[in-house]
Parts: sequence; structure tokens; C-alpha cells
Amino acid sequence: MTLSHENQNYILKWRRYFHQYPELPMKEYKTADVIEKELQHLGIQTHRIHETGICGVFTHITDLKHAKSVGLRADIDALPVTEKTGLSFASVNSGVMHACGHDGHTAALLGAAKRLTEHPDHINGTVKFFFQQGEEICQGAKLFVKANEHKDLDRILAVHMCSSLPVGKMSVRGGECSASCDKFIIKIHGKSSHAATPHQSIDAIYVASQIVVNLQSIIARGTNPIETGVVSVGSIHGGKTYNIVSDEVILEGTTRAFNQEVRNTINRRVKEIAEGIAMTYGAIADVDIQDFTRPLINDQDVANEVAEVAINLFGESIAEYNYNKVMLGDDFAEYLTDVKGMYVWIGSSDGENTPTSYPHHHEQFDINEKAVFMASELYEAYARKILNTL
Ligand SMILES: [Zn+2]
Ligand SMILES: [Zn+2]
Repeated sequence: MTLSHENQNYILKWRRYFHQYPELPMKEYKTADVIEKELQHLGIQTHRIHETGICGVFTHITDLKHAKSVGLRADIDALPVTEKTGLSFASVNSGVMHACGHDGHTAALLGAAKRLTEHPDHINGTVKFFFQQGEEICQGAKLFVKANEHKDLDRILAVHMCSSLPVGKMSVRGGECSASCDKFIIKIHGKSSHAATPHQSIDAIYVASQIVVNLQSIIARGTNPIETGVVSVGSIHGGKTYNIVSDEVILEGTTRAFNQEVRNTINRRVKEIAEGIAMTYGAIADVDIQDFTRPLINDQDVANEVAEVAINLFGESIAEYNYNKVMLGDDFAEYLTDVKGMYVWIGSSDGENTPTSYPHHHEQFDINEKAVFMASELYEAYARKILNTL
């Protein structure tokens, strides 16, 4: 651990502050105000991305010809979860909780910003600090991309706490990291009648059931078995009471894939199957596929650079080369279509059956704060490596 006490305290103060005042995706108003003010206090220029995203820009150029630029991304949003950790700095915003570790990412990046601006020695270039809103609903990265904030970057790095890795490990594997993520909403319109006269109805619940069952054929029979994918229906709502045939059902679900082509096929088939089955029974299905994010594929060169930096900081044992890809999604993937970058899982657990071993999004989710220090050091050291004049 190379961080001074002062720098550790700075990070802890912010991590606990953000933990105590979590805000929902795209509504991170106070969080954004606080980040913006702190960056300005550090002498970093800031501008807003949409309402609650903050882009901080720190430039220190000694040789224009060789200057480079690095993006460091932290997500800042929380979740609609009622916290049950019992922490002294537990959420005071009822029904909202930092249950994914984004409080840690935000604090880690502020800490890196502080140290980079205080000691710009040997830096030649620009660091862009992306404090990104709306990760949990995959809406924030698209706004940064739309504003072309990533276009001038040579590299981009994101960190994420990981409750299934122990503290002292970081996943530095190149290649497939996390899956694409999209949401679908299927509204089935049928016709109501008495439950005893079903021939006079078009039963939306019956149609919905057929759709739910048949959607699984997409993975079983519609995609190459060498590839992976998921179709999950997460909610189903319809009907009024036991003796009336329902005229409307709403299904909501998500699709995942690791390959853009598979992703497109799965989403296309969700629509075709829902519409086709509805038509078979005389119902109508309105299908809305919401494009969330593409598969996240880590660049191998960047993975090598990150491994080198992490090993320099924390020793050989830090590097986890075999951490499996996951079907979770993260919209950090959106930046990687144009920029070489990496998403690093930072071990934040003390091991099984400890308070830091609960899964992400759980009401008792917590992190070992050492992981936040390590994340902060990685952000800083990676930026220095890429921008180094030596
Ligand atoms: Zn999450
Ligand atoms: Zn997260």
C-alpha cells in the first residue's frame, strides 16, 4: 500500500459520503454537483454530459508532439434497493442504495484526480475523468459517446468492485469480459370474456405463456451452440381476477450475448416469435427492444499494460488471468468501439460468509475499502504509464 494516510482518508471520506447519499440512475443530481465542485477545487476543468454526467479534463503538456490522452471512467449511480448493511454510513435515501460498489469507484477516481493534479511531474498529455451516470440502466455511456468525449483518447480504463474475487486480486484478462445487455417489453393485446366462455375471448395469458416457452427456443435452436446467449423473462403482468379471461399481458425481459451478430439474431427472434405466436392466436404483440449495451471485450494490449502496472504496484500475486467472463452487462463497452481499453474487476471480498461476500445488488452488499484504495492506485498509475514522458 503506497497511499499516504492523508490520501487514504480522502478516499474513505468520499466513499462513505457517496454511500450515505446514493441516487438512482440518471437522477444523480447531488452526486454530480459534489463531484463537479470537488474537481474544480482540485483545479480540474469540468463540463456536464447531459444532466448528471461530469467530464473532468486535466491537461499537462510538455511536448505537444508526443502528448497522449487517457480516459478514466467511474460510474456514479446507485440502485433501487433498501439497504440492510447496518453500516454507520448506511444510505439515508430510503429505498436507494449503493449496492454495486459505484460509491467506491467514484471515490477512487476522485482520489486519483487529486494525486495526478498535485503531482503532474512526468505527465505529458491529458487525463479525462468520466464520472458517468446511469450505468445500471446502460444509459450514461451513450451520452458520453454521443458527445464524442472518448474520440480523442488513446486509452480508456474502468474499474469495478468484485465480490466474487478476494481483496488483493485483480482480473487482468484480455478478451471477452461481460455480455451485451438489452431489454425487451412485449405487450400482448387479446380480448376479454367470462372465463367459462373462452371461445369468445383471445386469452392474452395463454398467448403470453406460449411466448415465454418459445423464447427459449432461440438459444436452443436459433443460435450457434458454440456461442453463448441468454433470454430471460423477468416479469409477467396480466389479468384481473380468476374468472375473467385477460385481454392484456405485459412481459419484460433481457437478452445477453458475447457476439454482436448473436446479439442481433436473438433480439430479432424475440420480436418474430412474439409477433408470430400472437398472430397465430388472433392476438397482437407490440414488441419494444431497448438497445442497452454491446458486449464488453477487453483489448489485449491494454490488458498487458494493466497487468504490468498492477504487478508493479502490488506484486505478482495481484494478477488474476483466469477470471471467467460473465453474462452481466456494463455500458463501458460503448467506449471500446472506438478506443482501446479495459474493464478491470477489483477483488473486494474478504472471502466466503463475510459481510463483503454478498453478491452485487444485494441489500447487504459491502466492500472491503482496501479495494477502493487499490482501484484508485491503479487508475493513477495506469494514467501515468500512458502519459509518461520518460
Ligand atoms: Zn450493478
Ligand atoms: Zn456496477
